[in-house]
Amino acid sequence: KTFEDLNLSPALLRGLYSEMKFEKPSRIQAETLPMILTPPYQNLIAQAHNGSGKTTCFVLGMLSRVDPNVRVPQALCVCPTRELVIQNEEVLLKMGKYTGVTSCCTAAADTSSGVSVSRRSQITDQVIIGTPGTLKRWMTRDKILNTKNIRILVFDEADHMLDQDGFQDDSLRIMRDIKQGRANCQILLFSATFSDRVRDFAKKTIPAANFIFV
Ligand code: AMP
Repeated sequence: KTFEDLNLSPALLRGLYSEMKFEKPSRIQAETLPMILTPPYQNLIAQAHNGSGKTTCFVLGMLSRVDPNVRVPQALCVCPTRELVIQNEEVLLKMGKYTGVTSCCTAAADTSSGVSVSRRSQITDQVIIGTPGTLKRWMTRDKILNTKNIRILVFDEADHMLDQDGFQDDSLRIMRDIKQGRANCQILLFSATFSDRVRDFAKKTIPAANFIFV
């Protein structure tokens, strides 16, 4: 299998080859990308460790689903730590260099001192990456993140996220908000391990999901 077999745009193929220097899909990419990238855009729960190449799976999913000409949030990626938020945004920007897609992340607003930088205007980037607490605040209190056009929702390292009580509540809230808006939002959940909490969360919130264990 090659990246050419996956219906990716020329801009994304260029990002994969000339920016990322990838030659062919890794195992998890070969198994999940056909499902992530082709209609009916089914939900997916994947067990994947760091180093498996999981980031590429959901970054390609987000980049290929959003319309860069429409200035509203269309993809949302929820991560357990500020470091992972920054890392995922870096990959997205590099892989998506030729797509015209723009992104926004919560990293500047998440500070260890607890003092947050607040944003005032509506977010017009297509891809949003963040930690659950700040994302929830952007949606509810600050009302700068409109989720009504989100068509792909990603949970990265769900095990780390859901093992923290606050993050679990915020994740459920984010999920509810997005589902209210549109019934056909694709949900992708990646987790290295499957604790009872992850299993519970997935069962409650991700209907008709496909499971992939790599
Ligand atoms: P990840 O598990 O997503 O953090 O990726 C682990 C590492 O593998 C990263 O350094 C990626 O750049 C690299 N990687 C991901 N997919 C591929 C691929 N198809 N070919 C070569 N390297 C890759």
